[in-house]
Amino acid sequence: MPAQNNSYEFKAEMKQLLKLIVHSLYTNPEIFLRELISNSSDALNKIRFMRSSGQDYINPELDLNIKITLDKENNLFTIEDTGNGMTKDELISQLGTIASSGTLNFLENLAKENNKIDANLIGQFGVGFYSVFMVTDAVSVETKSAYPNNDAYIWKSNGLDTFTIEKCDKATRGTIISFKLKDEYKSFLEDFNIKNILKKYSNFVDFPIIVNNEVVNTLNAIWHKKKEDLQVEEVNEFYKFISNDFQDPLGYLQVNIEGNINFKALLFIPNSAPENIFRDLYDKTLHLYSSRVFIQDNCKELLPDYLKFVQGVVDTEDLPLNVSREVIQASPLISKISKLLTSKIISWLESWAQNDKEKFNTFYKNFGSLFKTGINSDFANKEKIFELLRFESTSITKGETTSLHGYVTRMKPDQDDIYYVLGEHRELIENNPKLEYYKKNNIEVLLLSDPVDFFTIPYIFEYQKKKLTSIEKAQIKSTENNDIDNKTKETNSKLIDIFQEILKNKIEKVVESNTLIDSAVTLSAGTNAMDPQMERMMKMFDKSYTDSKKILEINLKHPLIQNLAKLIEKNEKDKNVSEYINLLYSTALLIDGNLKTTNEFVEQINSLILQSTTNELSN
Ligand code: ADP
Repeated sequence: MPAQNNSYEFKAEMKQLLKLIVHSLYTNPEIFLRELISNSSDALNKIRFMRSSGQDYINPELDLNIKITLDKENNLFTIEDTGNGMTKDELISQLGTIASSGTLNFLENLAKENNKIDANLIGQFGVGFYSVFMVTDAVSVETKSAYPNNDAYIWKSNGLDTFTIEKCDKATRGTIISFKLKDEYKSFLEDFNIKNILKKYSNFVDFPIIVNNEVVNTLNAIWHKKKEDLQVEEVNEFYKFISNDFQDPLGYLQVNIEGNINFKALLFIPNSAPENIFRDLYDKTLHLYSSRVFIQDNCKELLPDYLKFVQGVVDTEDLPLNVSREVIQASPLISKISKLLTSKIISWLESWAQNDKEKFNTFYKNFGSLFKTGINSDFANKEKIFELLRFESTSITKGETTSLHGYVTRMKPDQDDIYYVLGEHRELIENNPKLEYYKKNNIEVLLLSDPVDFFTIPYIFEYQKKKLTSIEKAQIKSTENNDIDNKTKETNSKLIDIFQEILKNKIEKVVESNTLIDSAVTLSAGTNAMDPQMERMMKMFDKSYTDSKKILEINLKHPLIQNLAKLIEKNEKDKNVSEYINLLYSTALLIDGNLKTTNEFVEQINSLILQSTTNELSN
């Protein structure tokens, strides 16, 4: 790089890079603005640092800000800051070479692959400044270092092979970058255009950005404020800005981690849920900043899926500016941040559960379904998630909920299992005949009607060493019925045989029920079968799914069953017996929501009514 008349030649690799920028870098040209703003913001941050560390620097009276002038008449774009500027040596070394040696190779390979490079990538290699050559053919950089006793210099380049450096008469500290826009990029001289881009990428840069004499960034990087300085109003305003929500959030949490990993976060839980949380939260989660400069929104890697209802920003100084999505996806730093955020959010919810039940319940009502899926995915925090689950239950007033912990404290001394029943909605669940036994014996049962429960709750398996058991599959030991005479035993076994014979193609077997109190019959899962409610769910998703055969439980004490037994006693061949048994079987299917065709059922009932009315008339 020999100097001739203040003219310097770019190194070969730099030339290649510039060529790549001009010819291959053409998606997102507005990125140039983000890069320039971020450099200015860095330069201003350095002044802040010099000030706070008591260093000597010139023009301490200057405000820290970034000024953009859009001069349409002369087609001139100017961006000026009062940052630390550059010395002559710095100009040569910072704006003449590529910082990282792998940069060029990487960019070349990318360009070969798809003939174009996303400008977003440019910043990560410490060459963001050059993205300006996407939109212009020539740039000048006037700069004066903040260190005392330095001259001011102007750097000029056409972005091809050379640059010049000459003294200039800039009087004060800082940098002025100016250039004419290529014809196709003249729109970058439009006020509203620039303001929109700034809003998108630099709104929270916490130095004023002034466009044609108007400050355009109203909000500061408020997550950098001390907890005690944060005003609820500004926090809420910030939330609305980033989330496009019109309501205030349910709550916010400020996180400040320092040490091996450094980041700040401002997190929000919305007050209401979108229509379909599984679909509508897909593209909405945390924004990622690097040292106050916006990197990307919806940074999926920052939170596990089940916490995606959380909105807000994460800002880390440990991440190089402007990393690509690809880099973020594979970043160990991001995955560590995600783990820390997860445990902070869980503790936050724990504190709501303990100290602000109303808030917690609103959260749970809105986002509980999504949150529960953490059971299936976040094994490290499984136990904590268990504590935060809430359920309706037979021992709790309708509309209120209990935790598993609450359930366990109410368990009977000899009770080993936590019982639950799944169903489509509360009413259907409450009519499940299998609940009768539990009601009669005052055993609490969790009533689960959220479709997500079907896929999550059975996978808890155990809580505080108590098995979670569906009442559909619970093995209830018989406590009564042992003192019946031989004759009754015989009648009963005959009755069971006849049931078995008539329904043999439809069910696995018939057994005497230990659980039914008011109902005559019920179906339960076969020996190795799935919970029948679960099975219903399977059928909704997979039309070709075929039911497993069920066990028919009959309540031998039920008057209806006893009548049947007497009928059989009188006349084993009574032609109505088969009809009655089939009808009973249909009612059991109906209660479970598994009756396939109603026609047959209606026909059976009609024939029964006909028969009984005919009988009455003939009497
Ligand atoms: P990066 O900012 O990632 O290091 P750039 O190519 O954007 O890469 O900038 C190269 C260097 O030029 C910066 O690191 C900084 O030292 C210097 N620089 C660029 N713009 C400014 C500015 N406005 N004020 C002071 N220094 C600047």
